Amino acid sequence: MIRVLGCFGSIAARCHTTSFLLDDDILIDAGSGVCELRLDELARIDHILISHSHLDHILGIPLLADSVLKLRLAAAGGLAALRPIHVHALPETLDAMRQHVFNGVIWPDFTRLPTSAHPVLVFHEIAVGQTLSFAARGGAADRLVHVLPAAHTVPGVGFGVETPAGWWVFTGDTGPNPALWQALADKRIAQLVIETAFGNEEAHLADISGHLSPQSLAEELRQLDGEVSVYITHPKPGEVPSVLSQIRALNTQHRIEPLREGQRFGAPVAE
Ligand SMILES: [Zn+2]
Ligand SMILES: [Zn+2]
Repeated sequence: MIRVLGCFGSIAARCHTTSFLLDDDILIDAGSGVCELRLDELARIDHILISHSHLDHILGIPLLADSVLKLRLAAAGGLAALRPIHVHALPETLDAMRQHVFNGVIWPDFTRLPTSAHPVLVFHEIAVGQTLSFAARGGAADRLVHVLPAAHTVPGVGFGVETPAGWWVFTGDTGPNPALWQALADKRIAQLVIETAFGNEEAHLADISGHLSPQSLAEELRQLDGEVSVYITHPKPGEVPSVLSQIRALNTQHRIEPLREGQRFGAPVAE
C-alpha cells in the first residue's frame, strides 16, 4: 500500500511537501509530509528513496534520524546490532546531502553517528534504469521499485513501484521528459502521480525551473497511451484551485484528479 503523506510544493497548515510511505517501512521522498507519522511509525522506516536534493524532498531525513535513533538502539538491544536506515539516491543527491546538510554545521553527520562503525544512516547510490528490490512483507513477493528518469534543474529521478494492479508511477520533480514516456511505453500503469508545480500564468517559471504547468502537462500526457488514472502533485498551497481549473480545461483521454494527503493506493500489507 502507498500512503500519501505530503503532495504540495511548499507548506501551510494541512499542506505538506512531498513524501509517500510504501507499506510501513519505505519512504519515497522525505518532505514535511514525514511529520504526519507518529514516532513508532517513523521508527519502522528502514529505507528512504530520494528523488533529488531539493529541500522540499529531503528535509525530513536529518530530523527523522535524530527522532528514531534511541528507539532503534533500544530495539537492537545495543549499538553492535543497530539496524541503519538505508538512504537510496543518485550519487549527486547523496553528495549534496553530505556537503550541505550532514556537514556538522546545518546538522550532525548521522552517517557517522552514533559511531562511524554503526551509523543510523547509510547512503546507497542508485542509477536510472535500475530496479531496487526490497524484502517481502506479509508473505507477498519481494517489492520492486524502478528508478525512472526525470528532467529537473538538479540531477533527479522518479520511481515506479510494482503493484498487483500495475506500476504506481511518481515522476519526481520534472519538466518535459520524453525519456520517461519511452521508459513507460510498454508498462501497465495503475496510477501516474505527476507534478504540476505552476499555473499557466507562470509557464515561463515552470520552463526555467524544470517543472510542469497545465499546458506543458498536456503535452506530456499526449505521449502516454491508453486511459490512465493521473494524479496531480506539487502545486503550491493557495494555487490549487486555479491550477486544477486549468487542468480541467485540458483536452485529454486520461482521468485527472488532484492527489490528496492521506490518500492510499493498494491493499495494506498483511502483518
Ligand atoms: Zn525540485
Ligand atoms: Zn519539489
